[in-house]
Amino acid sequence: LQAQLLQAQKMESVGRLAGGVAHDFNNMLQAILGHAELALNQVDPFHPLHEYLIEIYHAAERSANLTRQLLAFASKQTISPKILDLNQIVEGTLNMLRRLISEDIELDWYPSKDLWSVNIDPSQIDQILTNLCINARDAITGHGKITIETGNAFFNDNYCAQHFGYIPGEYVLMSVSDTGCGMDQETLANIFEPFFTTKGFGKGTGLGMPTVYGIVKQNNGFINVYSELGKGSTIKIYLPRFKKKSEPIQEGISDLGLKKGIET
Ligand code: ADP
Repeated sequence: LQAQLLQAQKMESVGRLAGGVAHDFNNMLQAILGHAELALNQVDPFHPLHEYLIEIYHAAERSANLTRQLLAFASKQTISPKILDLNQIVEGTLNMLRRLISEDIELDWYPSKDLWSVNIDPSQIDQILTNLCINARDAITGHGKITIETGNAFFNDNYCAQHFGYIPGEYVLMSVSDTGCGMDQETLANIFEPFFTTKGFGKGTGLGMPTVYGIVKQNNGFINVYSELGKGSTIKIYLPRFKKKSEPIQEGISDLGLKKGIET
């Protein structure tokens, strides 16, 4: 619990700093992008300068993507939570997710029947799924499979509450599994650390998982990560169930999910 508290404090201070920098940086990048575009329109495509301008434009675009990630990580976006059927939101993102991953990777979707409602900004679900699917895609070489599932989960175990820092209760589960390379102990230990990446310079930002963490915490949920080297990984996101006042407390499916894999 102490470690989790430290992690939360660290995320908050890094987030505040990153958010401030990203905001100002974004304005400058928009100026670079705008002027590069103006110049591109005036330079003959066969002129050597054209190629340099394209490089400037692409670099600025990549930087703008990075600042968007930073802003998301710092939770600087204004959010409007809605009472949602998570299945519907996931379904709405499937086409976009398919475009993100290569044709060699199968995307399977198993919606749970009678799924409880959640109260969250739908664009945050998009963001979570995008980040998780990009990681799943990058973990797979050649053919493979990404599976998205939903489910109801009921936690009543005080031990878990004490040791893993989540509050017993009813949650809606959304999980993303892949048949990729899996993670070693070092990666698992650092997965939520801002700027931690194994993808190499220019490829990873190390902000995907911290962004997911930030969104889930903002919504009073929690995340479990399971991974086996060479076999694949599963990221389980639990979001609190939204319940109308009139709805009785129901016994859900108990998904403690702590028996296998590694808890981070
Ligand atoms: P990035 O994707 O930019 O590297 P993330 O914060 O999203 O940053 O992820 C951090 C690191 O966690 C990745 O570089 C990778 O090593 C590891 N990781 C995350 N998800 C997976 C996954 N599904 N399979 C294997 N490794 C993963």
